[in-house]
Amino acid sequence: MAKVFILIKPDGVKRGLVGECVNRFENAGLKVVAMRMLKLSEAMADKLYPSDKQWLENLGMKAKESMNKIGKDIKDDNVSHGKKVRQWLMDYVLSSPVVAMVLDGNDAMTVARKLVGPTDGAAASAGTIRGDFSSDSIVTATSDGRANMNVLHVSSDEKETENQTKIFFD
Ligand code: ADP
Ligand code: MG
Repeated sequence: MAKVFILIKPDGVKRGLVGECVNRFENAGLKVVAMRMLKLSEAMADKLYPSDKQWLENLGMKAKESMNKIGKDIKDDNVSHGKKVRQWLMDYVLSSPVVAMVLDGNDAMTVARKLVGPTDGAAASAGTIRGDFSSDSIVTATSDGRANMNVLHVSSDEKETENQTKIFFD
């Protein structure tokens, strides 16, 4: 059995999608083993997302790739733009209450990521949570100067699961 950390972001909570998300995870055989609703403190939000150079570089690169696809460029280097996106992300997750949970099950992270879909709701397949409940994209978010609002966060490796779980649960 493996675990995965999930955070239903402010838009997901405000829109009343907590039950919908939990239902989809449970239907796929994942068990909720911990869950709490709270408003994040700045310190918690800061711990939630990495701030190392590699992570910022990837975030900046992902933004650049999305903008290049529509023939636009981001002038900042990847790390500088990554820092900007991370700040947008902080503002987003701090904006109103979130629901944190840990799911347990066979291949929990792979299963959860499949159910959630990719970052851009606009491109996510119908049937995934982001595909069914978000039409936002990195391109739109970039031009608005804010985070891409995509209902929920899913941890992406074992270390991230462990670190993020520790922020919310004993
Ligand atoms: P995911 O949540 O799909 O694993 P990332 O880990 O790359 O995506 O990014 C974390 C979150 O930051 C995303 O879910 C999204 O809300 C936001 N985000 C990522 N890249 C951008 C960007 N270039 N512009 C605005 N928001 C972004
Ligand atoms: Mg991620």
